[in-house]
Amino acid sequence: MDEKVIVPVEAVLTKSVALPVGYVPTPSAPYRIHRRAAALTQQPGQPRLKNAGLSPSLPATPPAGSRVLMWKQDPSVSELGTRKAFIPGVILEGPRDARITYGQPGIAPVSPNAFGDFIMSPNTDQFDAVHTFAVVRQTLTMYQRVLAEGDSGAPLPWAWNSGQNTNPLQVFPHGLPNVMNAYYSRSDRALKFGDFVPSGSTDRIFTCRSFDIVSHETGHAVLDGLKPMWILSSAPPQTGGLHEAFGDLTAIFLCLSQLDQVEAVIAQTKADLHDKTFLADMAEQFGLALGRTNGLRNADNDLKLSETGNEVHAISQVFTGAVYDILADIFAFERQPGLVDDAALLHRVGNYVCSLTLRSLVAAPDRNANYSHVVNQMLKICEADGKPVEYRNFIRNRFALREVVVSPVPLTDDQQSGVSLAPMVEDAPGALQDRRACCGTMNNAQYFDLEGVLESERQALAKWCQGYAARRPQNEPASSEEEAVK
Ligand SMILES: [Zn+2]
Repeated sequence: MDEKVIVPVEAVLTKSVALPVGYVPTPSAPYRIHRRAAALTQQPGQPRLKNAGLSPSLPATPPAGSRVLMWKQDPSVSELGTRKAFIPGVILEGPRDARITYGQPGIAPVSPNAFGDFIMSPNTDQFDAVHTFAVVRQTLTMYQRVLAEGDSGAPLPWAWNSGQNTNPLQVFPHGLPNVMNAYYSRSDRALKFGDFVPSGSTDRIFTCRSFDIVSHETGHAVLDGLKPMWILSSAPPQTGGLHEAFGDLTAIFLCLSQLDQVEAVIAQTKADLHDKTFLADMAEQFGLALGRTNGLRNADNDLKLSETGNEVHAISQVFTGAVYDILADIFAFERQPGLVDDAALLHRVGNYVCSLTLRSLVAAPDRNANYSHVVNQMLKICEADGKPVEYRNFIRNRFALREVVVSPVPLTDDQQSGVSLAPMVEDAPGALQDRRACCGTMNNAQYFDLEGVLESERQALAKWCQGYAARRPQNEPASSEEEAVK
């Protein structure tokens, strides 16, 4: 091969010399500096991807998305505080996107900064709008990912969505002033969050600032899109329990989907999920306002079905507690701290139990689903996923101990392949739900078929009137309307 002739690039640019055959231009140091400066100042364009040009499947431009500042749990869990999170996708002033919109009268929509980010000061209206949007968005994305793994790839519609109606879910962070509650409303297509001043305090508590409460209410909205009959008060008590439990489990799953929170759980509990942890404590600030040190509810409970009657809130705790125990069992079973980081493992196990729970609920009957329906789907899906038999043993044993299902073999034996479990404690025939201790969603009048109650009263009145007209003595005068008919 010919030896290459080196020609200074300045000489080439000024054409002061003839180009020898086989020459290779070599940029001088000043030229390289000049080109770099020009690239930065005159042609900023799109930032270069490290792997640009290496793979045609990689995007040509960086993905759209925004950074947000949000509470990790709520303002009372000061050990955790706030976090910056990146939310991929197009997010506009509000914040809002295609599925979630901001609709709070009295609080101006929040505009993104020059970088497209929503970084606001905590304890302000604007921060509340961003935090609430972020938790709803993260919840929806978490469940969309679960369904996208399967073959359905469904976008997870809201209950009102159809080919003609793609309306988003409206979020009202301050939607219920002086109300100690929060709810999902199908008829309003909205999530509304209350605020209140606890007795003996001067500090106002905003339910929208709770990661747990916002994700819980979003869980109701997600499940209502999948199983619209489950939220009705006319459904059996265990069906109502599934709705309320799904809300609490949503808060736990969303927490476990976030790496910084998972690390905090591991550090707090020394990798024992039955130690006291913010993961199992629901709505800590709200709970403190009521004088409870374990949050509004605690997922790490020992309730059994025979202890709950028709009280939907208590029934829900049985299901939530069993799934929490299964999560802890699988995590303990899979732990190999010498090989895998505990936080990385808990993140993975949390993701699996989230996926297993959602897919089992989807596979359960559309009407009158009870706990044993879901448990049998969990066993079936777990086996189809190729998980070790221990996973199915944990599922069977935890639900058997809580009197949900009957195990045909001792709990020390392995769960046999393809065997369904019979229910142990069932709803009494025609049992009615008692929703008094549930969240605002479950107590919302729209799910109680109150029009149906009024209609049956109207029909009873009409029937009585017809009977009275037939029984009326001959000498009693007819009403003016009856006269008019004559
Ligand atoms: Zn609820």
